[in-house]
Amino acid sequence: MAKQELNVGIVGAGIGGIMCSIAIARAGGNVTVLEAAQQLGEIGAGIQMVVGDNLVSFQELNLRRKDGTKVGWTKISRVEQATGYPWWLVHRHHLHNGLVEVARKNGVKIVIDSRVSAFSQQADGKVGVTTEKGKSYIFDLVIGSDGVQSIVRRTLFPDVKPKPPTGNCAYRAIVPYEEVRKDPLTRELVEDKDGNLIRTMEVWMAPQGYIISYPISDAKDFNMVLSHHRNPPPDSVREVDIGEVHKEYEDYDPRIRRIIEKIPPGVQRWPLLQTGPLESWSSPEKNMVLIGDAAHSMVNHMAQGAATAMEDGAFLARCLATVIEGKATVAEAVQIYEKGRMPKASHKQQVSFLNGWLWMLPDGAAQEARDKAMEVELKGEVPMRSPNLYGDPGCVLEVYGYDPEKHADEEIATWLNHGRAVRDAATTIQQTRADQIANWFLPSSHNFQINSRL
Ligand SMILES: Cc1cc2nc3c(=O)[nH]c(=O)nc-3n(C[C@H](O)[C@H](O)[C@H](O)COP(=O)(O)OP(=O)(O)OC[C@H]3O[C@@H](n4cnc5c(N)ncnc54)[C@H](O)[C@@H]3O)c2cc1C
Repeated sequence: MAKQELNVGIVGAGIGGIMCSIAIARAGGNVTVLEAAQQLGEIGAGIQMVVGDNLVSFQELNLRRKDGTKVGWTKISRVEQATGYPWWLVHRHHLHNGLVEVARKNGVKIVIDSRVSAFSQQADGKVGVTTEKGKSYIFDLVIGSDGVQSIVRRTLFPDVKPKPPTGNCAYRAIVPYEEVRKDPLTRELVEDKDGNLIRTMEVWMAPQGYIISYPISDAKDFNMVLSHHRNPPPDSVREVDIGEVHKEYEDYDPRIRRIIEKIPPGVQRWPLLQTGPLESWSSPEKNMVLIGDAAHSMVNHMAQGAATAMEDGAFLARCLATVIEGKATVAEAVQIYEKGRMPKASHKQQVSFLNGWLWMLPDGAAQEARDKAMEVELKGEVPMRSPNLYGDPGCVLEVYGYDPEKHADEEIATWLNHGRAVRDAATTIQQTRADQIANWFLPSSHNFQINSRL
């Protein structure tokens, strides 16, 4: 079939929007990204994921009680082996910079200082977009990757309001790794007995709060996310007095307290807002669609918000490739995307909330049962199930081992097959099941392949 031209407008150049722009440009679409900010960049600090220089790979995750006692443990190379992907830690600014560079190399047009203010449905099925500065654009598809306060979502679903599920919120802070290494009290968190630098993820769990720390920026920075509760729940980012942070964690492990004392003033408190799950992510015409926080912002306890936004972009681009190839309309591609991604995002929101719940259990029977269930990890064993979700085999495969492009290919094949899953005619096996169960460890020459289609 003849190649179709596809003009896509993306509202918002955050991690989700930029990732999506790269994937669509690589699929052959023309992409314009409209960004409100006058400069491209990211606020906040650490993120657990992908690309470029400044990446940090790390050796282990230690789950601790708030006094520092170790209760759970994951060897990171085991997770990497199971998923087939590296698990890297990166400053979100470095990740964003890398993605912007790749987007530009792929011909994506990024227009800054362009706050989008209005949309209009055109008679020919396209969408008009207007910015606050009065510039107008026409696109075949508009993608709203404009974050938790999304104008695209407010236009499509004005009644939806992102809300904090509880009074849980988080400070974000960075201390130079060297400062942690220099201090005799905190050195053991970043150095082994022979004086070699170690890179670990540490979690101090407590009733109503926790601290997670890990190295970023080529292990030059010790990054912390410090979880706590406030009543009433905050709904916007606010700078707080550093004394407030000291007080919040005053009865924690003396080592992490000392690191908290090194945090420079100017700490911000972030609300943790959840959006949805929504009934739909798109306009009735299926020519405006949401991705990332705009569609499904989630609490941060599995570190999956940006990761999920990137998955959305990769999946949607695969669906749009079928439009460019002339096999589907934009509306059909958007429907395939929603069918595949909406349950997945809802699942991530639930796992994220529950992990926070597990990390913040009050002292007593439930906390003791949690710690007991992780006990075997301290002996170096990998249990079949664990409340340590960063190491639990099922959760690891489902959350970190998920391949959005493979998933998209399966959903597209089903759609092309008139809504019926594609199976081998003789064995009824689906290719994705074969990949999950057998092909992950077999050499490709010995893969189980389905031969004839049912
Ligand atoms: C404390 C905390 C820790 C976190 N840790 C992690 C982690 O470790 N790993 C992880 O994966 N996620 C993490 N997250 C979540 C992650 O930060 C978000 O999920 C992610 O940034 C969402 O990306 P996005 O591209 O959808 O939206 P955003 O990053 O919010 O980007 C939206 C963009 O749209 C622009 N915009 C807004 N309105 C308009 C408009 N009208 N016109 C044009 N442009 C507009 C904005 O300027 C912005 O650039 C964390 C979140 C918090 C609060």
